Amino acid sequence: MIRVLFAARDAAWPEWETPLRDAFADAGLDVDLARDHPADKVDYIVLAPNGPVGDFAPFTACKAVLNLWAGVEDVVHNPTLTQPLARMVDPGLTQGMVEYVTGHVLRHHLGLDAHLHGQDGQWRPDPPPLAADRRVGILGLGALGLACADMLRHLGFDVAGWSRRLHDGLPFPAFAGQDGLATLLRRSDILVLLLPLTDATRHVLNATTLAQLPMGAVVLNPGRGGLIDDAALLAALDTGQVGHATLDTFTTEPLPPDHPFWAHPGVTVTPHIASATRPVTAARTVAENIRRGEAGEPLLHLVDRKAGY
Ligand code: NAP
Repeated sequence: MIRVLFAARDAAWPEWETPLRDAFADAGLDVDLARDHPADKVDYIVLAPNGPVGDFAPFTACKAVLNLWAGVEDVVHNPTLTQPLARMVDPGLTQGMVEYVTGHVLRHHLGLDAHLHGQDGQWRPDPPPLAADRRVGILGLGALGLACADMLRHLGFDVAGWSRRLHDGLPFPAFAGQDGLATLLRRSDILVLLLPLTDATRHVLNATTLAQLPMGAVVLNPGRGGLIDDAALLAALDTGQVGHATLDTFTTEPLPPDHPFWAHPGVTVTPHIASATRPVTAARTVAENIRRGEAGEPLLHLVDRKAGY
């Protein structure tokens, strides 16, 4: 019997219990899934970082902590966490992000706002360029960035990307390092942030890097709020250096009511809804990792504690 502790807020249990039990059964795992096992008897923790477990020291027999979220910045530096940590890669979460990013890229590419708001009776027959003439830059070429790049390329966009390590063999230009970032930014009419928040990525968009974008570029940030220096972004919006920012993630969430992003005409705020872990598909990722753990196979999506993601 494998003891699995579900460590998330009470409200999450009803939506997760059945998908997890089904996924464990489908994987042939004999699991005792509960929210209150004795700590020293727990084999695996299924964790939401905003849930009840913040001290991992009592879980002396725990073989791995399986995060329910893609982002691990709230748990990766926890000094009591000595067990391996796996982050979430979920086809449902990925699909949701692809839909969000594609929708918002198309909004700006097609100039939809001009037709939705402020119609003034003037007939301006200026069709938008084709996608092939719109350069989209993606910061972060992981599970989410690559899936978004794939969809945008299928729509015809001129896609390029940036990651920590140089990825060979991608069907689009890819860059790494500080010089690579400048190259990527200079060719990004629309910039999508899908980086994790780490010491190395905090404020990756700042006064210097925002100035490397083409004048009037659009910024989409479904990554993490801390990737952007808010004051620098507001200044770049005010000069027109950034034409619009669609922001889903913020340094402080919920975004405080008096934050200037709410009122700024160049900012669209979405309330961290770009995507979410979907229990039915994500439970299969959890089950597969427990199956691997029990079989002595390497876990999927292990977090590199030093790199922070
Ligand atoms: P991932 O698979 O771990 O990919 C992360 C990517 O970022 C990798 O390509 C990595 O480079 C790159 N990267 C990391 N540090 C870097 C650095 N210092 N410089 C340049 N590139 C760097 O993560 P994911 O699953 O795609 O998720 C990305 C992020 O999306 C999550 O961490 C989370 O913050 C955010 N997210 C948001 C929502 C939402 O609803 N808004 C939902 C889910 C996730 P390498 O390829 O070289 O490793």
